Amino acid sequence: MVKKRVFLTRTLHDFALKELKKRYEVEIHSGKIPIPKSILRSKIVNVEGLICFPYDKIDRDLIDNAKNLKIISTYSVGFDHIDTKYAKKKKIRVGYTPEVLTDATADLAFSLMLDVLRRVSEGDRIIRDGKWNQIYGAYDYVGTDLQGMTLGIFGLGRIGSALAKRAKSFDMKIIYHNRKPISKNKEEVLGVKYVTFLKMISSSDVISIHVPHTKETNHMFNMKIFKKMKKSGFLINTARGKIINEKDLIEALNKKIIAGAALDVYESEPISKNHPLTKIQNVVLAPHIGSSTKETREKMAEITVKNLNLGIEGKSPIYSVGY
Ligand code: NAP
Repeated sequence: MVKKRVFLTRTLHDFALKELKKRYEVEIHSGKIPIPKSILRSKIVNVEGLICFPYDKIDRDLIDNAKNLKIISTYSVGFDHIDTKYAKKKKIRVGYTPEVLTDATADLAFSLMLDVLRRVSEGDRIIRDGKWNQIYGAYDYVGTDLQGMTLGIFGLGRIGSALAKRAKSFDMKIIYHNRKPISKNKEEVLGVKYVTFLKMISSSDVISIHVPHTKETNHMFNMKIFKKMKKSGFLINTARGKIINEKDLIEALNKKIIAGAALDVYESEPISKNHPLTKIQNVVLAPHIGSSTKETREKMAEITVKNLNLGIEGKSPIYSVGY
């Protein structure tokens, strides 16, 4: 029997590849990451299944070119890189990997918050640059306490709620904004209070972003918003880079309109070592590693393969966008 074909825009764990190779004819892109669009376009003409990553833009043109495609299985919880509406119209299923990465991403958001407030990465640079002897004074190189600070969580869903649990144990006050408040019961358990978007912006000492990137949230954080934040306020983003207008953030940090930022995601990834953000001291930069723990990445690979298998069988993936 002729095996069905699947294409991966980069490799996955050995156990996942073994599972795929048992069932399908598998091709894996091994060149430049992200895969150039022209290569991806040509590689998916005859495949039934596609495994992709957050930096692979799967647009209408690509979908139209993939005549046999039944499932796009993304190795991520975010699916803003896929034209999911168009995929649905073309009866192509989309699978994604929520839940298994919630704790890992909340852990990273919390570590970024601790890092930028206590200036850990900045201190590491001070030592590597041989400047430790310049910061011995009582007023030198001070950070900020987390205890008693107000944390504003923008997007209290899976990851936002997991962050709230962590922040509660550090005695932070937690406010949040979603389009709809969560139930009173859940608010009580998490120890959080619902506020308007502008109230969250103006009252928080630290704001952590956990909404998906959509037309509505695109560039929602811009100079107008930074000017409404506390001058002593910090911004953490482990959601998606395009939620922030990066040019405005760079200006806000340079002009000290806000106190600092810690980022795992950027408008265009990867950023280079010459990116203007790398020149600013009060910013912590992580290379999009929210879900990057051994355990979490393995679980994501397992679900990505299961989603793909189900889609190729004409069934709904375990975690499905749309249907
Ligand atoms: P989720 O459970 O769907 O939570 C999203 C939350 O955002 C919901 O509470 C939702 O509440 C709120 N929301 C959505 N649109 C909104 C809007 N326009 N205004 C205000 N609130 C809005 O998603 P999750 O699993 O926590 O993941 C969140 C995002 O994190 C993902 O979309 C992904 O992009 C990102 N992520 C990044 C990494 C990484 O490696 N850095 C890893 C995992 C996830 P309402 O519907 O009530 O508004």
